[in-house]
Amino acid sequence: MHKHSPDTDNSTSTAFNLPAIGVVHSCYKEKFGIPRQPGLAPASTGIIRLLPPYNLTDAVRGLEENSHIWVQFVFHQCLRDEWKPTVRPPRLGGNERLGVFATRATFRPNPLGLSVVKLEKVEIKGGEVLIHISGLDLVEGTPVLDIKPYIPYVDKVEDAESAFAPEAPVAHPVSWLPEAELALENYRQSHGEKYGGFKALIEQVLQQDPRPAYRHGKSEEKVYGVRLLEANIRFKIQETPSSKALEVLVVDIEF
Ligand code: SAM
Repeated sequence: MHKHSPDTDNSTSTAFNLPAIGVVHSCYKEKFGIPRQPGLAPASTGIIRLLPPYNLTDAVRGLEENSHIWVQFVFHQCLRDEWKPTVRPPRLGGNERLGVFATRATFRPNPLGLSVVKLEKVEIKGGEVLIHISGLDLVEGTPVLDIKPYIPYVDKVEDAESAFAPEAPVAHPVSWLPEAELALENYRQSHGEKYGGFKALIEQVLQQDPRPAYRHGKSEEKVYGVRLLEANIRFKIQETPSSKALEVLVVDIEF
């Protein structure tokens, strides 16, 4: 096997040229709406397709013995020539600045992301190595640099704490207008088995309130659209009729 080496022969080299070993095909067709971390929408699905020369059956031998994998990837839709030492994480409402290395922001000196996702199965088909995953936070076309098994006894840290993000974000209840329910039912009838999990995906994504952070906590008349699979899900955030709490209303689904 060809061994990848740094840009120069100098062993102290600090710049590296890393080729993608795979590419993600995702239920998320655009960044808007993707949960901020993996696992928040367990019904989300995707495939990591290994690229030549890494698309070898041997390279994934034993991978299926793991329920979860780490995926190291490039934030290819956030490439910039410059970087800033501080960022405004959506978690803090988008107003407060934190050091870039204290956050999981997409704009960073090296545009690298790291996600733990569920491994559904490895499929070898017609020379392709297809790694089926779920619970991802990756957009269509994301270049993958590496895959490693998630090893619970090492990676699961029982007493870990993060004051920055102490718990999962609030999940809002989701209700549906009749038109939206009808559109979903039509989709179910025409897509049969491929439909599985679609409603759960829609609800898990919308309950996170995909709007920009500065809108969070506020109701709005504006109807937003989020693209999932081949559909555009139209929704708005309103106060529930019975209380001041916010809920998501699915207004319609366009195919
Ligand atoms: N779990 C990873 C991490 O911590 O490094 C990613 C966290 S990042 C905050 C997740 C967001 O990155 C998603 O909500 C989505 O908007 C965005 N994203 C996903 N794939 C991307 C890509 N290929 N390029 C740029 N942004 C991406």
